[in-house]
Amino acid sequence: MAKFNCPYCDGFIQTSGLIPNLSESLLISDKEFHDEPDKIDYESLYKKMIHLFRCNSCNSIAIFWEGMNSLPTWYNENS
Ligand SMILES: [Zn+2]
Repeated sequence: MAKFNCPYCDGFIQTSGLIPNLSESLLISDKEFHDEPDKIDYESLYKKMIHLFRCNSCNSIAIFWEGMNSLPTWYNENS
């Protein structure tokens, strides 16, 4: 089970488990979205998505800019 501790509180994010993951959002750049063909291939679109997770305790976010095999960058309202 993939779990990363939040640097801002005692909470964490969990990147594996239930599908859909209720603390996960998916991002895509405007350019990549518009570069998609008119008929959307969801599998291809999903592969371009950047994964964002919210801390289970403080709502800070962790974004896996370089993919799920790299460490996330954390952000909160004070940083
Ligand atoms: Zn937190």
